[in-house]
Amino acid sequence: MANESSAKKTTFCIWFFVVLTSAITLAMSWGSLVPRFIAPLWAGFLKQKSPEDLNRITQNFTESPDEAFLVLCVMIILVVLRYLDGFGNRKGIIPPSFLVYFIYCASVFFSIFMFFISPLKAFFALFIYFYPVLLWHQKKIGTALFVVIAIALGFVSYAAIKMIAMYVLLLPTLHLIAIRANNSLKSRYSSNAQRVYTKLSSTQKNQIKGSIFTSKLDWWEIVEPELDELLKSWEKLPFVGKEPDEKESVHVYEPTKKSLVSIQSNIELDRSIKRIQDRDPNFSPPAFLARFEKTYKIIVNACSEQKIEQIQHMVSDSLYEQFKRRIEEQKASGIKFKCKSIKILLKKLGRLVDNEDFEELHVNVLADIVETAVDVVTGVPLSSDTESSSTVSEFWTFFRRPSAKTLTKPGLLECSCPNCGNPISIGQATVCSVCGSYIRSGNYDWVLSKITQSCEWEYSNPLLVPGWTQLEERDKNLCIQQIEDKAAVIFWIIKRLEQSRNSEPLLRFAGKECYEFFSRIYLGSDKRYSFNESISLASVSLKAIDIKSDYVSIYLLVVWSGIPVRFDTNGRVFAVHRIVKPYRDVMVLTRKIDQVTKLDYTLLSAHCHNCGGPLSSDYDVRCAYCHTILNDGSDWILEKIIKEENIEYINLLTKKRELIKALTNKQKLVERRIEAEKEITSGRDLVTISAMMLLADGIIDENEVALLYKIGASYEMSKDKVMGVIEAVKNGELHLSFEGKKTKEVSALFDAAVEMAVADGEVCDKELEMLKSFGKKIGFIEQDILIRIRKAERLKNLQK
Ligand SMILES: [Zn+2]
Ligand SMILES: [Zn+2]
Repeated sequence: MANESSAKKTTFCIWFFVVLTSAITLAMSWGSLVPRFIAPLWAGFLKQKSPEDLNRITQNFTESPDEAFLVLCVMIILVVLRYLDGFGNRKGIIPPSFLVYFIYCASVFFSIFMFFISPLKAFFALFIYFYPVLLWHQKKIGTALFVVIAIALGFVSYAAIKMIAMYVLLLPTLHLIAIRANNSLKSRYSSNAQRVYTKLSSTQKNQIKGSIFTSKLDWWEIVEPELDELLKSWEKLPFVGKEPDEKESVHVYEPTKKSLVSIQSNIELDRSIKRIQDRDPNFSPPAFLARFEKTYKIIVNACSEQKIEQIQHMVSDSLYEQFKRRIEEQKASGIKFKCKSIKILLKKLGRLVDNEDFEELHVNVLADIVETAVDVVTGVPLSSDTESSSTVSEFWTFFRRPSAKTLTKPGLLECSCPNCGNPISIGQATVCSVCGSYIRSGNYDWVLSKITQSCEWEYSNPLLVPGWTQLEERDKNLCIQQIEDKAAVIFWIIKRLEQSRNSEPLLRFAGKECYEFFSRIYLGSDKRYSFNESISLASVSLKAIDIKSDYVSIYLLVVWSGIPVRFDTNGRVFAVHRIVKPYRDVMVLTRKIDQVTKLDYTLLSAHCHNCGGPLSSDYDVRCAYCHTILNDGSDWILEKIIKEENIEYINLLTKKRELIKALTNKQKLVERRIEAEKEITSGRDLVTISAMMLLADGIIDENEVALLYKIGASYEMSKDKVMGVIEAVKNGELHLSFEGKKTKEVSALFDAAVEMAVADGEVCDKELEMLKSFGKKIGFIEQDILIRIRKAERLKNLQK
């Protein structure tokens, strides 16, 4: 990344130098060039050869259409050439980078030149011209209005100083200044799919102020992302002449009817509902969904109003930690969100998982949310468009024990103790003050355990992890939800301490060595550091178990994304541009071998594992109620965090594969049945795998990128996210271990691509070609590809 960036910087500097020298040369020879050559030529055309006429024309040429004219002509010629390049199937002679670099260089050069020859004129011109550019960049005025203003200003400048082209020439420079002035979080050119506000809050600006001068801020860091975005928009230019409609459809983020987000088949779902109704006759999906809708609104509102204490009793500890972290972040940046309206477009049961130990309900919800970020200090909205909504597609997972029955009275989601009906007051989220029951144990009512974005949603069955059944024999209460909750709580605590630079809160959740490791990182002498903002935890899934004689280690894959923010020695942010980056970590947790999970505290991972007491101080390693030492290994503690490439982890996974191979045929059948029924790979993983495969030869062309966007969109994954994945794979920052070609994931992936092609009707020649080349890249032979396409077409026709 760094190398690529510095190479680009060098290119930019070379171009700047080339433009500067050629413009200076031209400008210097202009004086002798005009009277001796161009002016007589011009006069020749006009057939006016008297010495006075000649003199007048010469005078006009040297004064009025000045050097700017020359630079402008080159710019226009280049743009026209670039546009013409796009016609037909030509690849294009002029690379877009040439154009963008040239135009920006020429403009900056011209501005400097202006200041030298007529400082007063230049100053006024910049002053008058700058404001519309700033407004446009802040998205306060639209492009159409801006063009009108620009043309008007062009005429004004012609009338006043006879320089009609001046505004056009100044524009790129003004744009660069506007970027700086706005401290823009988001480029004018990037898409709107993501819920990021357009401006920095006053608090954030204060954090940045000063650091521009005190830190060695590289000007390239500011300019580069903007230029990159510009480049991208130039790259799209050829398509203006080619196929506008098809290109457009790729960029539209539509949570379509064609959505490939996996949900349980209706037959499976009905079977599960039936099983639950056998135990709990009052359970009815429509009634539950109605209850869900209320809960959804309460929780979304509580989060945007920063009043999460009000909902603590409804949610798991990990979810609460997640909300807490987000609000801390908003407070630190001086931002508050205002939620104007919530409209639920779709709510349905996505999956119901039940066995003798627990019931889990995954609700797929699609909602339109109108939300604006507001500056806490000034009260000014941070996004210019306060009315536009964003569509959110998520899975909300609810958990309860089979002992729980559908309540006929108000329950947890209605702020009442699900056991005795006593109203729950704030701060009483664990034990009911009247009947003393653990209200979030799942023994009485549904508890919201996690919220996952649709594209991140996956389902894996712990039964497929070798060692699970052995561990279950030792710990009859072993519960995957408890493990996931614990890991997620630890994850959020680590993310918090990455920002606070204080490792102490981790002590009670980590082994000694692990704690010391983190302390060394955070207390190190290097005061320059980075952490992530707007973190979204995609999934925590158990991947491997390693049972030793006296302890057991579990390996959990944590997939998450965030926006990296950097701090310099003064503790101030100076990175201006924000790009969502995906990450994958493997968290290793350990526990003493002879421990038994406590049923009541399944979703209380931030509480004492012995008595369920709240951990009041952030630093106590000893529970204030029962005096248990919290990190002695009687409950899961963090051992270390590794990457998927880690050899120890790979060995464990290999062992798993060998174990599966060694199974008897009958076992295999059972295994396959579980797998077919339950395992779901998330849309994001599929996009990552396809990006890895497409990038295997180092090249990814536009059609392939378009295909990735399409796959992403069909899993309700925004374009920004797909872009983040492609970038990370390109830079070698993201490595997803999958077992090579033609595995289950790859098969699913290819079927998804086929399904997409079939979804909009007939598979056209172009699509067929794309599928063939994609299929070959991921290890399918042509025969196989055609069979799969035909199968998908048949299925599609059957559905009609
Ligand atoms: Zn009670
Ligand atoms: Zn305790």
